[in-house]
Amino acid sequence: MLFGIEFDATTSKMINRTENITILIIDDDESMCDACVQTYVKSGYIVDIAGDGVSGMQKVKDINPDLVLVDLKMPGISGMVVLEEIKKIDPEIVTIVITGYASIDSAIESMKKGAYDFLPKPFTPEELRLITKRALEKRRLTIESNRLLQEKNEMREGFISMVSHQLRTPLVAVQQYFEVILGGMAGEVTDEQREMLERSKIRIDQLIYLIKDWLNLSKIDANRIVKKLASINITSIFTNIFNLMQTIAKEKNITLKMDIPENLPTISADEETLEQAFLNLVDNGIKYGKNDGSLVVSAKEKNGYIEVSISDNGIGIPEDKLPFIFEQFYQVEYKTESAGLGLSIVKKIMDAHSATIKVTSELGKGSTFTVLLPKIKEEK
Ligand code: ADP
Repeated sequence: MLFGIEFDATTSKMINRTENITILIIDDDESMCDACVQTYVKSGYIVDIAGDGVSGMQKVKDINPDLVLVDLKMPGISGMVVLEEIKKIDPEIVTIVITGYASIDSAIESMKKGAYDFLPKPFTPEELRLITKRALEKRRLTIESNRLLQEKNEMREGFISMVSHQLRTPLVAVQQYFEVILGGMAGEVTDEQREMLERSKIRIDQLIYLIKDWLNLSKIDANRIVKKLASINITSIFTNIFNLMQTIAKEKNITLKMDIPENLPTISADEETLEQAFLNLVDNGIKYGKNDGSLVVSAKEKNGYIEVSISDNGIGIPEDKLPFIFEQFYQVEYKTESAGLGLSIVKKIMDAHSATIKVTSELGKGSTFTVLLPKIKEEK
């Protein structure tokens, strides 16, 4: 039975008041229910009652109330269980606990189960009105912030897909036209035209590179990574990376070496993203490495962590620039074929794995990037 709803016979519509706010009272004490109904109806709320936990939970599903007043001590299932179930049905429903057995312990326990507040019996209508108003305000703010969060995520996803399709696709088409023209397939090209076209092509390549890296960075989602964690072998990750990078390393005659013990424990990681992070570090080691140099990957177990180091004997990084290299778009020296996003991608992936990354470097001598990965990822 719903209280507080009036029926307009002329329009055949219900007249709901106080912005259609519905409150459910779950309490086996009839006189308590009556008193609360009276207070609530006077305040303009629509009210329903249930005499026990089971029918209360059914009503939560049926009428989807904004707020539920739950008695802790009832025959059958307890108020604590009801609180937990309400959270599962709809976490946005706000709950207030009422009981004659007011103790700090039960108050804390009920808050832990998701109750907004606690009202010891007996209470005055004014106390009930006040606590209800505050709880409803909390619900309004929660709903609003959830909505904004969802809107933000949708905008982010929409922007990522816009960049991917509307920016990247036409640029790739332009890039292909340049190849055709420069290949002489659309007629003869003068030296002057060739030079201009080649310069334009470099700019387009740069833009495509930047978009690719930016998309990679935007797609890294820590929550998704945590869900995809599996037992990963570091050696197999670097074997894949070395296979991929062999050709580029050979162009500079850089030797790729691996120093990883066979019995190294596995780590809990998302293979795809972790490989991407290590690939970026190896790529940098080659890109900023010197001709005829070497790049060494070593790994060892250390205090419950796996420590992975990637060392090159390349150009090194000036000490005063080291604090900035993990920032987005930061480059020590501007390079046309890079976007300055590689290390921020690495940092974001390592953060999602609860791993740390450090760098030591000496100008003209080389750099070492050291990653500490927890052996077993703790549940978040
Ligand atoms: P980029 O796309 O420019 O390589 P990164 O974010 O990967 O961007 O790196 C940021 C900057 O840090 C680079 O521009 C480069 O100056 C410096 N850097 C990164 N790795 C190394 C390395 N192994 N040796 C020397 N400098 C490096």
